[in-house]
Amino acid sequence: MSGDRHTTEAVVLAKLPSGVEITTTVHTYRGTEDGPTLYVQAAQHGREINGTETLRRFHDRLAPRSLSGTIVAVPVVNPLTFDRVSYTTPEQLDSVNANMNRVWPGETEGSLHQRMAARLWEYVERADAIVDLHTGSPDMLPHVVFREGDERSRDLAAAFGTDLLLSEQADEDASEEWHRRGFDGKLRVAAASEGIPSITPELAHNKQIVEDAVEIGVTGLLDVCRSLGMLPGDVPDREQTIARNHLGQVTAADSGLFRPRPSLDVGQFVPDGAELGTVYDPTTYETLQTVTADRDGLLYALTREATVTAGDQLASVALVREE
Ligand SMILES: [Zn+2]
Repeated sequence: MSGDRHTTEAVVLAKLPSGVEITTTVHTYRGTEDGPTLYVQAAQHGREINGTETLRRFHDRLAPRSLSGTIVAVPVVNPLTFDRVSYTTPEQLDSVNANMNRVWPGETEGSLHQRMAARLWEYVERADAIVDLHTGSPDMLPHVVFREGDERSRDLAAAFGTDLLLSEQADEDASEEWHRRGFDGKLRVAAASEGIPSITPELAHNKQIVEDAVEIGVTGLLDVCRSLGMLPGDVPDREQTIARNHLGQVTAADSGLFRPRPSLDVGQFVPDGAELGTVYDPTTYETLQTVTADRDGLLYALTREATVTAGDQLASVALVREE
């Protein structure tokens, strides 16, 4: 990577009660030609480290001399959750907004997460496209989420290249649950509301660097750049399934051990009522719940951590819209 085409900047996101500053590094890559600005970030949820590794590898592969436009990349958006290897922050740090991805575009006078988001929003609002890298459970099919009906975000999702694309309804089209859970405060949703095409890749796997997941991420970012005319080359044609992000997940009706049906795997189509597994009482062996799919659809996530509490998510089945 050559000279001043790549610069880094230490940015103070907020301050802890002790006065210690929460700082992160923002990378900027400037191309030789004019072009759009792409903003990419990872690790809002600090245990989702494959996004961070994706950005490191993207940095190694990116040749700024062939770049048109500007890329702004933030590998560790949330040092608080990164250090705790967690999804949210404890109450002491942000008693109001434990999940950073519910507060965008942030608030300069708000809670810790709101302030952190507001500082980074200064970069976001100058961008022409947004990629917010996340990862899910080990047993989740990699996919990209975009706002349903937003064609430019859909094009960005298609360019990223995962086999599965999930559209999510927003605002007045969205369910009561979407509003109740504050999903309008996701970076992707807030940016799309400002007219900036934006996507959330979910790369699968937390806590471990998993080569397959990272390669999907790096290829995805390079193809997003190609689709925006920022790098030479064409995005390959791909067969992709578009389904609707299913918010009413299949959940545990009781606490116990969850045993998925052994022949079941993510990526399979399951009919309404198909048995997905059982929750049983580990002391008496009594079956507490026969877990079934609540619709015809594509199984894209399945819980493998067997000890479950009533209400926990066991499986996710997406309604297929088109193939
Ligand atoms: Zn996440």
